[in-house]
Amino acid sequence: MKILIRNSHTIALLDLSKREIRGGWISVTDGVIDGVGEPGQEPEGPFEEILDASGMAVLPGFVNTHHHLFQTLTRALPGATDAELFDWLTTLYPIWEKINRDGVKSAALTGMAELLLSGCTTTSDHHYLFSRNCADPIDATIEAAKEIGIRFHATRGSMCLSEKDGGLPPDTVVQDEKTILADSRRTVEEHHDPSPGAMIRVALAPCSPFSVTRSLMKETADLARSLDVHLHTHLAETKDEEDYCIKHFGKRPLDYLDEVGWLGDSTWLAHGIHFEKAEISRLGSVCCGIAHCPQSNMRLASGIAPTLDLIRAGVRLGLGVDGSASNDNSSLSAEARQALLLGRLKYGAASLTVDEVLRWATRGGASLLGRDDIGRIERGARADLALFPLDDIAFSGAGDAIAAILLCGPLRVHTLLVEGRIVVREGRLETIDLGRLLEAHRAEARRIRE
Ligand SMILES: [Zn+2]
Repeated sequence: MKILIRNSHTIALLDLSKREIRGGWISVTDGVIDGVGEPGQEPEGPFEEILDASGMAVLPGFVNTHHHLFQTLTRALPGATDAELFDWLTTLYPIWEKINRDGVKSAALTGMAELLLSGCTTTSDHHYLFSRNCADPIDATIEAAKEIGIRFHATRGSMCLSEKDGGLPPDTVVQDEKTILADSRRTVEEHHDPSPGAMIRVALAPCSPFSVTRSLMKETADLARSLDVHLHTHLAETKDEEDYCIKHFGKRPLDYLDEVGWLGDSTWLAHGIHFEKAEISRLGSVCCGIAHCPQSNMRLASGIAPTLDLIRAGVRLGLGVDGSASNDNSSLSAEARQALLLGRLKYGAASLTVDEVLRWATRGGASLLGRDDIGRIERGARADLALFPLDDIAFSGAGDAIAAILLCGPLRVHTLLVEGRIVVREGRLETIDLGRLLEAHRAEARRIRE
């Protein structure tokens, strides 16, 4: 399959050496970018498809590094709209428990649809809730990703520490350690594709210090190393979590993570807000990754992540929309805009450029997921491309097309390619019937609230 994208207003390379190409073209063969160039140098066809990108900014598809897709069923839920993390969770656990397999799948499809329309071509998902109403939520979510055509990094979440053992979640949504480890291995063996250009990969992801035992953290790290997959969890999100770790483990969250053998370059952590100076250096020295989730952090008043301090220390940074019950949208372009605005509030406007935040949203996120084949527009990279229409009312009068994506947005894509496949065309999803999906999604949301 050969595709030519031509006549673009701007192609955002986002490189320090070359920022953009005006009026340029991109050629794609079998899902891979095989040429990028200046106007007038377009390659000869034949092409199966020629996309006219006049009036559009072409960006690398965004990469979302933290989400809980099942939570799209509990957006703006009464009782949880104005709470902080621990109260928010205890309100939601009993409702999440009721979600069945069809519900998990429609929730995943809805979140993925929203992500795709916002310019996101790769997402991870952290599913940590296993109830008797849905035995295989990770498999259901992977099915959804294949159906809708998004590149997907499933993380096999887990909780084994319930209220009766001093944890936060109720008994009905946790599993025992043996079951978790066996199913983690099965999920990796069945679904993880380590090859370049993979559409499905798997990482292991115990939920958080307050819902998982020390031994499960250790054994999961050993298993991930033996299977050669990444590790993911929540860390340093709130002061409550810090207090919990000091009370139950006698140490701060990062010391605890170190003790259970998690510090390394194949670990990425969601949030990473409450670190001391020396902890930031430690994280940097092992090249750990942080999924920065500014909208969720503001919504739950968790705090402001020290993004630039983390990067200066050597930490790799990507963006995450986080679960839809704490954001409550799944728009990566909105997340990137908020990352820019919040970062500027903390560090000053001149310290954080639009281009830098767009790099977090693309190659930064790719790096967290262990990939160098996505998140960039260059020969040899996978053809994950987002075409934003600059004739939208929000852009009218804009000078710099790349800066406008964040300063005038958030907005939706006109066209989106994942692995060279056109998934969104003229603003509409090509792969699913969105109307029917949302009908099923709303019905399940109503059912679990009853
Ligand atoms: Zn989260």
